[in-house]
Order: sequence, then C-alpha cells, then structure tokens
Amino acid sequence: MDQQPLWVTEPREVWAIVRAEQAAGKMVGLVPTMGNLHAGHQALLKRAAAETDFVVATIFVNPIQFVQGEDFETYPRTPDHDRELCAQAGVDLIFAPNAATIYPPDACTRVQVTGLEEPLCGHHRPGHFVGVATIVTKLFNIVPANLAYFGLKDYQQAKLIERLTIDLNFPIEIRLCPTVREPDGLAMSSRNQYLSPDERKQATALRRSLDLAEQRFRSGIRDPKTIRQEMVDLIRSQTGGSIDYIELLDAQSLAAVSEIRSPVVVAVAVRFGKARLIDNCVLASEG
Ligand code: AMP
Repeated sequence: MDQQPLWVTEPREVWAIVRAEQAAGKMVGLVPTMGNLHAGHQALLKRAAAETDFVVATIFVNPIQFVQGEDFETYPRTPDHDRELCAQAGVDLIFAPNAATIYPPDACTRVQVTGLEEPLCGHHRPGHFVGVATIVTKLFNIVPANLAYFGLKDYQQAKLIERLTIDLNFPIEIRLCPTVREPDGLAMSSRNQYLSPDERKQATALRRSLDLAEQRFRSGIRDPKTIRQEMVDLIRSQTGGSIDYIELLDAQSLAAVSEIRSPVVVAVAVRFGKARLIDNCVLASEG
C-alpha cells in the first residue's frame, strides 16, 4: 500500500514542517490545486515527486477566484479520492486549509498582476486573477517550497504566476507542465463532469480548433484574424457551444498581435451548458 500523506490544515504547522525538511537538506516541491484530482493534476504531482524530495499538494477551493454566479458552491469536493490519488503519486503532505483560516473576516490585502490579468479569462471573469494571484502569494508564503508546479492548460494563470514570482521576489522556481488530455483530445478538467453526454462529444471540437490553427500556421498563414475566423467557424459549425473567446496573443506578454512573427498562444474558451471549458496551444516556428 502507498504511504498515506500527512493531512495538515494549519498554515503554521505546514510552514514548520517544510522548513524542517529543508534544514535537513531536502528540496520541497509544491503543487497547488482545488482538489477533485484527475490525471492532469497527477502528472504535476508525479513530476514534483520525481524532481524533489518532499512534495506538498494543496487542496483549497479558493472562494475569491470565483466570480459571482459561478460554481463555487457546487465545485466538486472529493477529499477521500484526492488523498488516495496523492498517495499513489508520492505526495508527502496535503495542505487543506479552511477558508476562514486563509481569509479571516478582517483580511483586506489583495494581489494584482496588472496587464497579464486583463485579456482572455480576466476579461470574462472580472476579479478572477486577483483571486488567483492572492491565493498563490499566500500559498508561497505558507509553503516556502523550492519548486512549484503549474499546468499549461491554464496558460494565462501560468504566465501570471511566473510574473508574480519574479515581481514579488519569491525564491521559488516555477515549472510549467504540458496539458494532459483524454484519449479523444479533450483537456482534462474537473469541470468536464458538468457536460451532458452530447456536450461531452461536442467539447472535442476545442482540440480540433487548435489543431486547425496549428495546421494553418504550418501551411504558412501568419494573419491571426484568418486563423481565428476559421476556428470560430469550426466551433460554430460543429457545436452548440457559446464562444467566450478565441484569441491569438503574444505568448509572453499576452498582447494583441497583427502578424504572427514570434510565439503566439492560441487560447479558446467555450461554454457548454453549465461547463466553461478552456484550452490553448502555442504556435512557434521551429528553430
Ligand atoms: P485546479 O485544481 O483546476 O486549480 O488545477 C490545479 C493545477 O493543475 C493547475 O496548475 C492547473 O493548470 C493544473 N491542471 C489542471 N488540469 C490540467 C491538465 N489537464 N493538464 C495539466 N495540468 C492541469
């Protein structure tokens, strides 16, 4: 049987354990999550276990990153399943704080990464990235890890966290991990379970639209508008989903581009009923 990870809810306790591990010469890896773990999370946890000596997974459904009317109340919470998956992945400690500990009623500090938070999901979910930046800053203080792992599935979030880590001088190395997909190409997400069987089939169009963008880019098209329109046409003709955005932006700054000359992220967000799905790929010339 796999070794069961420690389950800690108090910030001071996890901080002390992490510092003691580091004092004993160990490298500590941190994997922040909202729980309801799947193979995408597991890839991050396993990589952390392979690259560090002591792995901390955090499980916290962060209330302040949910916009009013979103699924905070109904977001799937599966602590027993998560504990098992963490044990299998080689996690040493699970930090699962209570919301009241993280956000006491008199807390009034928020962290904002300007610029990067504005386009894409930031535009459609106002306040979301302040919630993300605030919780990641708090987790970096509570769990003073050497390395922290995030998924490229949440591309804008990943870029924002890289920036935040530099800007706030956290001595933590950020490792970004590729998106793990279902066999039919759908990016794994806790929110996929909101899809009806019919929506689930339609949702594979996200990956197909990104494949189309890659194909068009490889065939020499450098006009982002042309690629975008073809993607919109594909999603509209193959699904009943409602497009939040399809955009091609500079892969580092997330600024608009008029021509694809340096790496560009192609980011997609589509709503299917209750589920809002996101996916992305990066277009870059070889060599
Ligand atoms: P979440 O629990 O959705 O907040 O995700 C926790 C971490 O897992 C984030 O860094 C995500 O980007 C990452 N993640 C979520 N889904 C995937 C996936 N399908 N592949 C790779 N990483 C993922």
